[in-house]
Amino acid sequence: MTAPAPPVTGDGRTALAAVATTGEVLAHPRLHEGLLEPWELRRLAAIRVPSRRDDVLAARLLLRLCVARFTGGPPEESAPAQYCADCDRPGHGRPYLHDHPGVGVSLSHADGLVGAAVGPGAVGVDVEPATRRPGPLSVLGRVLPESAVREAADAPDPGAALLRLWVRAEARLKAGDGDLRVLEWTDRHRSAVAAVASAAPVTTFTVGPGPAPRIRRPRDPTR
Ligand SMILES: [Zn+2]
Repeated sequence: MTAPAPPVTGDGRTALAAVATTGEVLAHPRLHEGLLEPWELRRLAAIRVPSRRDDVLAARLLLRLCVARFTGGPPEESAPAQYCADCDRPGHGRPYLHDHPGVGVSLSHADGLVGAAVGPGAVGVDVEPATRRPGPLSVLGRVLPESAVREAADAPDPGAALLRLWVRAEARLKAGDGDLRVLEWTDRHRSAVAAVASAAPVTTFTVGPGPAPRIRRPRDPTR
């Protein structure tokens, strides 16, 4: 028997972030495909790789769970909308909450892992498999601060250091502009590296039977 996770209640001032495996989310008793809006289901139906489809579904469901905990509403009323300023069209682009214009939301999925975040203001989340190795260095040097890339490349485990640098940068990119702090951690149980960029302090939680992630708070070289 696994003790149920303690409820996380949004106080409106703390961002909430969750990382889980796609399987954990899809096994959650309150989360199911029926929660998705018609436009989300149409997008899901267009994804031909079943595992990727599951990842996208799970990310959208985990975001609903985050939003429900943050707002105190049910997952059924926690659907994110999306709008792309470049195309001036809904259905893709940065997610937002129609009924909570000041609240930031973000989601991420990668190879059986999903992440979601919600907060009072800008938030961005990224999750990657701990075994992923971004690169090559010549490309990373163009999209990340060069000094940080050099430092990571000289670390005892350069691949892991570069991955952590990468997820921090992705989380920051998704959050957009602003005075952001980046929280990054490695979830060994799920073999995941995750980061959340947020102006507000961040509380993390997870779903499923695995232990809650142990958070490390390193200095942030992407700042
Ligand atoms: Zn667009």
